[in-house]
Amino acid sequence: SGQPTVGELAKLMHKQASDIIKFLFLMGNMATINTVLDDETVELIGMEFNIEVTKEHIVEEYNFEELDEEDDPKLLESRPPVVTIMGHVDHGKTTLLDTIRKTKVTEGEFGGITQHIGAYQVTVKGKKVSFLDTPGHEAFTAMRARGAKVTDVTVIVVAADDGVMPQTKEAVDHAKAAGVPMIVAVNKMDKEGANPDRVMSEMSELGCMPEEWGGDTIFVPVSAKNGDGVNDLLENILVVAEMQDLKANPHKMATGTVIEAKLDKGRGAVATLLIQNGTLHASDAIVVGTAFGHVRKMVDDLGREIKTAGPSTPVEIIGLNSVPIAGDVFKAFDQEKKARQIAEARLQARVEEERNASSAMSLEDLAKQI
Ligand code: GDP
Ligand code: MG
Repeated sequence: SGQPTVGELAKLMHKQASDIIKFLFLMGNMATINTVLDDETVELIGMEFNIEVTKEHIVEEYNFEELDEEDDPKLLESRPPVVTIMGHVDHGKTTLLDTIRKTKVTEGEFGGITQHIGAYQVTVKGKKVSFLDTPGHEAFTAMRARGAKVTDVTVIVVAADDGVMPQTKEAVDHAKAAGVPMIVAVNKMDKEGANPDRVMSEMSELGCMPEEWGGDTIFVPVSAKNGDGVNDLLENILVVAEMQDLKANPHKMATGTVIEAKLDKGRGAVATLLIQNGTLHASDAIVVGTAFGHVRKMVDDLGREIKTAGPSTPVEIIGLNSVPIAGDVFKAFDQEKKARQIAEARLQARVEEERNASSAMSLEDLAKQI
């Protein structure tokens, strides 16, 4: 039951985010496109724009579960956690992601060229952990906009020489709203002015009290630059993940979420998918948002061609008839017909939605003129 951000709500209401931000500003609230809205504010905005937006609308619109049936508990198996890294700009997110990838993937495995697919998997103490590599906030917002709960653990990076900053707070708000457990990586510990105590006290003010102070948030001092503490961070991610007892059913057709997608001149639509349930097979029919097709080729995060991929695995596929968008959910079928039908129904629904929105708008405009 996530709360929408300004951007998500704007999309749902077919309004400009800037209009909502303007309205909130006039109400005395400073907001950005990433600000998470509480129920009361959502209702107020709805009243202002004359559009009723209820919790049900938000859930319905972005219902991730729509295509994923309940699983027989007997078929469930443990799956790797999916981790996102968020934090203020320049606090070291990219460096940390790179360091984790480098320390955990041996050179030989790269086969020379590092293929960037927006997500990768590493092995920690014999257990797999998946990282989403996309710019934290944007990815998170786009995914959540569809109700997709992609992340199991969020690492909030805070530079020890800078402390909590506006986007740190935003990241905490996002994680809280999505109900995702947080670990704080106190980064840049190698720097002269590093002050982890300050980070801990500022984070406590945001409701993230360190364990050593009687709270329940894990803080790990790290240096993304030289790698200090990174193993400790990874082991703590496993600890937090294990508490959640993450499971999925690999014995069915795959469902999941688009992490990134683009149009490639030679290959057509290329999509990075995170498989969240089931197993994806090369040659499966697949519907992704309003796109559909067959998986023509599937590669893993190291660029190796693979034939099957199970829960929590990021893969890159080609074979879709159009480019999906980050946050779109996908489902695989054994028959292309079914995939096509769903894609067409979704496209139809999207067109109708847009038509309704524009007619609602013109009625509104008309009312203004009278
Ligand atoms: P992002 O904006 O959060 O992705 O931050 P980046 O990873 O791009 O890092 C911003 C700057 O901080 C870069 O110049 C990094 O080299 C530097 N940086 C990141 N982590 C560390 C660290 O642990 N120690 C030091 N000294 N510098 C770091
Ligand atoms: Mg970065």
